[in-house]
Amino acid sequence: MQPIEIQKDNEDANSNSVVEQYRHLMREVHLETQRLYKARGNFPCPSTCYDCCRNTATMLISEIEGQDLKVGLKKHPPEIQEHIRKKAERSVRKLEQIGFSHERMTRDAGMESVEVLKGKPEAECPMLIGGVCSVYEHRPLICRVWGYPIDNGRELACCRKTFIGQRRLYKPIDYARYWDTCRDLSEKIGAEEKTPNAYLVVRLLSEEGVTEG
Ligand code: SF4
Ligand code: SF4
Repeated sequence: MQPIEIQKDNEDANSNSVVEQYRHLMREVHLETQRLYKARGNFPCPSTCYDCCRNTATMLISEIEGQDLKVGLKKHPPEIQEHIRKKAERSVRKLEQIGFSHERMTRDAGMESVEVLKGKPEAECPMLIGGVCSVYEHRPLICRVWGYPIDNGRELACCRKTFIGQRRLYKPIDYARYWDTCRDLSEKIGAEEKTPNAYLVVRLLSEEGVTEG
């Protein structure tokens, strides 16, 4: 699949077509993870591991990822949406009790808050239910690639539990390009700001309707 080219100066581009461009991008990401999966010969994560989801309540999510996430959230019956919302609100309350705010976390990309919450129940992604991602088909970009070697533009990064001693043997996923494309697509729907996970989930669940591609 060819890398997507973002439509430029297209007055007809609306949020639906931008979401569709995002989904195309995620299909490309999927092919990249498949490439590494096949090269390595097996799935890199232990089947029962979800440790990375235990510490993502404050990860920053771009607006275009949020638009797709909303589709996943709104597929759930009301009681599950309520469970997720309450979990997200609990994280927001905890963060604000200890002095964080949406703006402060956005400024430092959530780096400080992630350390402060680490190990606490409020650190867990609100969309994790019983150890399972409840929005798997719609999960954000980083959730799709973490576990594989990625080039984030500064370094070769990878979950410390996977590809041990082998990270440099494989061509990494060009995460920086995918993340930059998410930023560009978000700008096209008029939202440059990224939002900490728990705050975003509370907001998305309070909004009406979903944007379909
Ligand atoms: S969205 Fe899903 S995969 Fe990503 S951190 Fe949350 S539960 Fe984990
Ligand atoms: S990326 Fe790492 S922490 Fe996350 S599920 Fe895979 S092995 Fe576990």
